[in-house]
Amino acid sequence: MAYVISDACISCGSCAGECPVGAIAEGDGKYEINADACIDCGSCAGTCPVGAISQG
Ligand code: SF4
Ligand code: SF4
Repeated sequence: MAYVISDACISCGSCAGECPVGAIAEGDGKYEINADACIDCGSCAGTCPVGAISQG
């Protein structure tokens, strides 16, 4: 199960730089995780200042 970003995202961009497989990109109004690329490493979740990233 891939990680997901909730509507709480404030588009700070911190998570994108932490992803080892480049699965995170800016989407429409918030950042989004490509579920097909995510390897469930969890690195992104710890970087989010608003706790918007969780395992889906
Ligand atoms: Fe990238 Fe890991 Fe976050 Fe998946 S859990 S989006 S692989 S940093
Ligand atoms: Fe959004 Fe959190 Fe990623 Fe920042 S770190 S872009 S608030 S999901």
